[in-house]
Amino acid sequence: MSVLFIDLDRFKPVNDLFGHAIGDALLKQVAGRIRQILPPNTLLARVGGDELIVVAEQLNRNALGQMAAEILKHLAIPYQLNGRPLAISASIGIALVPHDALDAQSALGHADLAMYRAKQSGGNAYRFFEASWHDETSGQFEIEVQLQGALERGEFELHYQPIVDPHAGSLRSFEALLRWHNPVLGMVGPDRFIPVAEQCGLILRLGEWVLREAAWQIQSWRALGYGDVRVSVNVSPVQFAQSEFVETVTAALHAAALPGQAVGLELTESALIHDIEGSNAKLAALRAMGLRIALDDFGTGFSSLSYLQRLDVDALKIDRSFVWSMDQKGGSLVRAIVELAHELGLRVVAEGVETASQLAGVSRFECDSVQGYFFSKPLRAVDALEYLQRDAARPKGDGQASGVLPDARALQDEGFDRADPERPMRG
Ligand code: C2E
Ligand code: CA
Ligand code: CA
Repeated sequence: MSVLFIDLDRFKPVNDLFGHAIGDALLKQVAGRIRQILPPNTLLARVGGDELIVVAEQLNRNALGQMAAEILKHLAIPYQLNGRPLAISASIGIALVPHDALDAQSALGHADLAMYRAKQSGGNAYRFFEASWHDETSGQFEIEVQLQGALERGEFELHYQPIVDPHAGSLRSFEALLRWHNPVLGMVGPDRFIPVAEQCGLILRLGEWVLREAAWQIQSWRALGYGDVRVSVNVSPVQFAQSEFVETVTAALHAAALPGQAVGLELTESALIHDIEGSNAKLAALRAMGLRIALDDFGTGFSSLSYLQRLDVDALKIDRSFVWSMDQKGGSLVRAIVELAHELGLRVVAEGVETASQLAGVSRFECDSVQGYFFSKPLRAVDALEYLQRDAARPKGDGQASGVLPDARALQDEGFDRADPERPMRG
């Protein structure tokens, strides 16, 4: 048999605008129209507000597709509600038993998922369930489930990766990178869970936690005598878009009694370019408090050079894909980006520096700072403190790029699948 999951598109506004009595009348008309099309012995049921299911003794995909198309066609004929014509459409998802599912619950779930895909593609459409979606979404779904309550359970931790002077090797600042240790999923990398947190809205609380945690950490290092340590924090576009973003940052600084100079923010172009004026207003407020702003992952998005001129940022981080491409393709792109950035008064940080030859390349092109495994992996807070101590103890002005030599612990793997180094550029 087969299950068709039918969900009306934009039904809620009908209830809101015309009231529930009219909404109910519309649902009855919808059900009546579907019933007319269905063969005898076919079950039609209402399972939720504007959700109906059909259970049919039909397994032929062509015939099912025709049935779904017929339903959509009939539902699209305008309705008369209180003497007013009203058009409404639906989205339909279809799952076959036993082909797509072996029990009622998963048949309904899979038909629901197919319906969701039909709706995502704009509605007024039907889709058959495809087994390949299931792995994607169940992985993502599992992450979403485990993310619930993860903050309260204390499953997050910040690691700190040194950003250093390419010539002297001395510490300039740290970048805070979020780590999630979940008892069910193990260590999950931010590339995997941040997008899910952005979709389900958790990113706002999570992002605020990151700000407060980093601020608290900076304060505790300052108390130990490292008064000028600076930490930059990654900010999701979803977070930055909030009208109260500047207040959230200010509150985190106040809570830890920190000056703005102690904190940097890293933002991607995608967070800024939708509304350049609005973004610049927020950036100006943040910079007035002393925070430094870096444009992250430069080179992976649209990276229009004209944006560089229009966005009020202090620094630009060259994406690691450029640094890595220097070995094969030479450094002309890196050199051009650095020259242009300097022309515009921006500092440049090279990301993902792993080898001595990459370091030599980015220093030759006069990148102002470098970050990467060559110097250190992201470190737990206790190890970052040790790094600070060794950095403070090293002789100044020796001009050696050997820096604080990474110790074994700094090179240890953090124990989760990080992004494939061969991954295509984002954007
Ligand atoms: P990102 O901002 O580009 O951060 C740099 C990433 O490169 C980090 O990955 C870092 O561990 C990795 N990395 C640093 N040096 C090297 C190197 O030499 N070689 C290689 N192969 N990788 C290097 P990570 O920690 O997995 O973070 C991935 C992304 O997740 C970050 O990319 C950032 O976009 C996002 N992210 C991390 N923490 C946060 C956070 O607190 N909030 C938000 N919104 N996003 C975060
Ligand atoms: Ca970053
Ligand atoms: Ca980056």
